[in-house]
Amino acid sequence: MPEDFSVTIGKLVDRLESKNDGIRSMGYFYNFARSLYTGYLDSLKNSGKKIVGVFCNFVPEELIFAAGAFPLRLCSGFGSTVQRAEQIMPANFCPMIKSSYGQMLEDAAPFRASDVIVLPTTCDGKKKLGELMSDYKPTWVLEVPHTNETTHARALWLSSVNTFKKEIQKLTGRKITAKSLRQSIELCNRKRAAVRRLYDVRKRQMVPIWGRDVMLVTNMSSFDEPVRYIAQVEELCNELEAKQTSVSNGQRLLLTGSPIMFPALKIAMVLEDSGGIIVTDDICTGAKTFHDPVMPAHWTMDDMLVALADKYLMNTCPCFTPNAARLIRLQQLAQEYRVQGMIYYILQACHTYNIEAHNIQKAFKAMGIPVLKIETDYGEQDVGQLKVRMEAFGEMLQGQLE
Ligand code: SF4
Ligand code: SF4
Repeated sequence: MPEDFSVTIGKLVDRLESKNDGIRSMGYFYNFARSLYTGYLDSLKNSGKKIVGVFCNFVPEELIFAAGAFPLRLCSGFGSTVQRAEQIMPANFCPMIKSSYGQMLEDAAPFRASDVIVLPTTCDGKKKLGELMSDYKPTWVLEVPHTNETTHARALWLSSVNTFKKEIQKLTGRKITAKSLRQSIELCNRKRAAVRRLYDVRKRQMVPIWGRDVMLVTNMSSFDEPVRYIAQVEELCNELEAKQTSVSNGQRLLLTGSPIMFPALKIAMVLEDSGGIIVTDDICTGAKTFHDPVMPAHWTMDDMLVALADKYLMNTCPCFTPNAARLIRLQQLAQEYRVQGMIYYILQACHTYNIEAHNIQKAFKAMGIPVLKIETDYGEQDVGQLKVRMEAFGEMLQGQLE
C-alpha cells in the first residue's frame, strides 16, 4: 500500500525544520506544506472557484486569475505513485511524469480538485501524458513551438495564448477584461519580485538560508493564494536581510537541470548534507518561474497578451531548439552569485536536459567552474552513493581554493 502523501510531506518538513537555523518565518511555509494533503487541497475544490490543473512553466497564470479561477500545479514529486503508473507507462521514463500519472490514477487531491487539466506540448512525455489524462478529466493541449527564436514561433505561441484565454473564459463564464488582466499581471509580477528578493539575499558571502528551504518556498507558490504568499515571502526576506549568521560555510553551488517537484527535494537535501550550499538555481520550480516580469508596452488587452506570451516564451526549457538562452542565463547566475561549482541534475530518462549537459559542461569548464552531473530518480536507494560523489566533488572544489 503506498505511503500516505501527508506522511511523506510530514517527514520531509520535520527534517527541514530541525535544521533551519532558527528562521522563524519559515514556520508558515512548513505548516502550509503540511496542510496540503490534510485539507487544503480539498478546500480548494469547495472554494466555488474553477480549479485549473497545470503542468510546466508555460501556462499563463495571469489569465487564470483574471478569469476568477485558480491555477494548481499537477507535476508530482511523490515516489509512491511511480510504481502504479509503471503498469501502463515504460519503467525507463521520467519519474515526474510517472508520479503525476500515478497520482491521477489514485484520484489524489490535486487531481480531484481540478476541473480541467492543461498540458503544454513540451517534451514527448508531457505530450503523451495529455492523451492518457483526457479519459479522466477535460484536458487542454497548449501548443508550444519547438523554438522561441523565430517570428513564426512567436505568432504561433501568441495564438495558443489567445486560444487558452477563450477556453478559460468559457470554463468560468467570466470575460477577462483589460482591468482584471492588468490586476492579475501586477499581482503575479509582485510575486516574482518577492521571490527574486529571496534569491538576492543569497548573493551575500554569508548565506542566511539553506537552498532546500528556498526550494520549499518556491514550490509552495504553485499551491498558495498569491496575496498571502507574497506577504509571507516578504516577511521571510525581512528576517533574512537582518540575519547576521550563515547557515553554512560550504562551497557555493548553482543547481541546474530537471524540475525539483515537492516533496522530491532529495537532491537538494543530499547536496546540502554533504557540505555544499545551493545559492541559486535555474530550476523550473525554482528561480526559472520568477525571472522576468510581464512588461506590456501599454495596458491595452492586445499589448498585455503580447507581453504575456513573450514572457512565457522566454522560458529556457530544453524542449526548445536551439536553447542558447539557457547557457547565457547560467553564466550570468554563476557570476552574480559567485558560484564555485555547478550541480547538473537530471531526472532519469530526461533526454533533453541530458543532451544539453554536453555544451553546458564544456562552457563551464572554459569558465573554470567544475560541474558534477547526476542522474537519479525519486527513489532513496542511491542516496548513499550520491552523498559520496557530492562529498568528493566538494573536496575537489575545496582543493582548488587552497
Ligand atoms: S523543463 Fe520544460 S518540460 Fe520540464 S517542467 Fe520545465 S517547462 Fe516543463
Ligand atoms: S523532467 Fe524532462 S522528461 Fe520529465 S517532464 Fe521535464 S523535460 Fe520532460
